[in-house]
Amino acid sequence: SLGYSQSNIQYDELLDILSTTPKEEKAKEWSKYYTSGPHLAGKNLSQAEWTRDRWQEFGIGNTEIVSYDVYVNYPLGHRLALLEKKSKSKEDEGAEDSSKAEWAVKYEAKLKEDVLDEDETSGLEDRVPTFHGYSASGNVTAPYVYVNYGTYKDFEELQAANVSLKGKIALIRYGGIFRGLKVKRAQDLGMVGAVIYTDPGDDGALSDENGNKTYPDGGAREPSSVQRGSVQYISIAPGDPTTPGYPSLPGVPRQPVDGAIPQIPSIPISYLDAIPLLKALNGYGPKASSFNKYWDGGGLGYKGVKYNIGPSPDGLELNLVNEQEYVTTPMWDVIGIINGTLQDEVVVLGNHRDAWIAGGAGDPNSGSAAMNEVIRSFGVAIAKGWKPLRTIVLASWDGEEYGLIGSTEWVEEYLPWLNGSAVAYLNVDVGTTGPKFGASAAPLLNKVLIEATHMVLSPNQTVKNQTIGDVWNKHIATMGSGSDFTAFQDFAGIPCVDMGFTQDAHSPVYHYHSNYDSFHWMDTFGDPGWHYHVAIAKLWAILAAKIVETPVIQFNATDYADGLKGYVDKVKEKAANSSLFPTSDEGEESAWSKDINLKPLDIILTRLRNASFAFDATALSLQTEIDADPLPWWKWWERVKRQQRLKAVNQKYQYLERQFLYAKGLDERPWFKHVVFAPGYWTGYAGATFPGLVESIDKGDLGGVYRWAGIITGTVGKAVKLLES
Ligand code: GLU
Ligand code: CA
Ligand code: ZN
Ligand code: ZN
Repeated sequence: SLGYSQSNIQYDELLDILSTTPKEEKAKEWSKYYTSGPHLAGKNLSQAEWTRDRWQEFGIGNTEIVSYDVYVNYPLGHRLALLEKKSKSKEDEGAEDSSKAEWAVKYEAKLKEDVLDEDETSGLEDRVPTFHGYSASGNVTAPYVYVNYGTYKDFEELQAANVSLKGKIALIRYGGIFRGLKVKRAQDLGMVGAVIYTDPGDDGALSDENGNKTYPDGGAREPSSVQRGSVQYISIAPGDPTTPGYPSLPGVPRQPVDGAIPQIPSIPISYLDAIPLLKALNGYGPKASSFNKYWDGGGLGYKGVKYNIGPSPDGLELNLVNEQEYVTTPMWDVIGIINGTLQDEVVVLGNHRDAWIAGGAGDPNSGSAAMNEVIRSFGVAIAKGWKPLRTIVLASWDGEEYGLIGSTEWVEEYLPWLNGSAVAYLNVDVGTTGPKFGASAAPLLNKVLIEATHMVLSPNQTVKNQTIGDVWNKHIATMGSGSDFTAFQDFAGIPCVDMGFTQDAHSPVYHYHSNYDSFHWMDTFGDPGWHYHVAIAKLWAILAAKIVETPVIQFNATDYADGLKGYVDKVKEKAANSSLFPTSDEGEESAWSKDINLKPLDIILTRLRNASFAFDATALSLQTEIDADPLPWWKWWERVKRQQRLKAVNQKYQYLERQFLYAKGLDERPWFKHVVFAPGYWTGYAGATFPGLVESIDKGDLGGVYRWAGIITGTVGKAVKLLES
């Protein structure tokens, strides 16, 4: 018996329903629907309504659309041309109007993806142009410089080599960090525009260079494919940039956006459009390979590209035009609620619905299709008498692509309620683009996630009955950003999981944010057979069921304490290697001062570890007691006493993550309240641990190191108190 729930089905029966209901044909059907036409953020109301209607049909009667008024851009036009100054002929010299006649177009970029007969949605008349979300309008003509990935370090190396950046346009390759931070760094250094291209060298071994056919004939990158995407400063604050920290409801005051989105124009281009630009730099400025090995990863060598840095010589310039229309327009989240026996313990499941293109079969609609199968399975269980122990909230977010908008605005609106009642948030963005399982999670959820992966069969049965967990390397990344978990984890202090299947080394290239992330690609290359869609649906549903149904919340505080201990060791190492603590002459003294800085944190972490061990043991023995003896109703007094103990334990788990919030937030980015996890300031996607401390070290700010060591020690102290209370 579920002991404390009012459900009419057993837990085992629930698990059975959740692991047998999701079906390939259904996932395929939902995918086909979502990917059959444009559903850009703020332009997908019919898909929001359709989603609401399906969820209601599945048995989630309490489903509705919630809308926000969001400041956002839509593309009007663009141009990218390589201009060459013609050597003056006799006639030109004599001409009256010499200034204009001197420049010729050496290459006019297509800025368009090819229409493929095999791929229906690549040829839709209303397909979405190639552009960057939150990019600035502008028309600039200037020499240009190849800046590799445009990471902070890349730009440092360019500066060290005295490459002139000011007034130039940056030609950047995609990869490594979030694209908006590439544009930000270029702008900070006085560059006037940014062009970001996809280098097939970053797609691994699969390129037509190796005799592999390009999509749709094979798995190599379609040469005209373009990666759209947002250039918002993701690591400073997600959500509507005009309403940081509060919901974009009609009529609310709006803030200036200057510090949140770029002011220089940027556009994304294909490698076909990049080749002439890169080739024109051949022989000018240092060779990229002379910087270091990491710069020499470009895959266009076989097309005659030598990867010189530039700048482009006198008489060779780029004209970059970007025209965007900025509007404040509604976006629509679909929110479904399954009331549990416990109204104040809530588990949220979410996926975004909006895509950059007509397709989006991988991003995000492989997740959307899986989510519909999760919800259909929940509906089957409800029809058989299931009443969840905890309350479940289901979310189909809009506006993720521009900057996690639907989820961020919703969390900002419901923060007080979430603060009291949220237990966990389980995100699936891309459900599958390949066979390799990947996850990031707050450490509290590591254990239950690993357990759940062992309860679902892997579609890849190289060994009979092997589970997802069996073929997974068990690497759980720290929470960074780049999807809808961010507001839950970093703003509201709710532990999160983000998971999905991605490509492995042998997979066909995934055309991320391109027209070829389409139903046809998915059906032919990504997940033919649709088994991975079903696998992620089952895993998601079972993970949710474990967290929702087990009387003692399935968290593990010890993993958190261990994690923190590891992060402190990392910070110490970083500090030791930093300029703050020169080790050469006065080795001993600096080692001593390092110790002083982090000693109190170390001491309290040891207390946290001890408290966590003791607490987890209490929780486990309570769970064991409940499993062994559900206590019949006539022992009502013992039942009441046990329920009080249960509530006390669960509240500690429920509020543990919240203890790591710091109301004033991180330096220079106060929206981020979590002192343990944040997206790296200059990475965006990849997570940073103890960001305040790490960034103080990076800045050489010893005062900041002391201050953040103190702030973190304070939050750890609160966590210890909570566990020991
Ligand atoms: N998943 C989106 C991307 O990586 C997120 C955009 C954002 O957070 O601004 O482009
Ligand atoms: Ca907001
Ligand atoms: Zn996505
Ligand atoms: Zn995306």
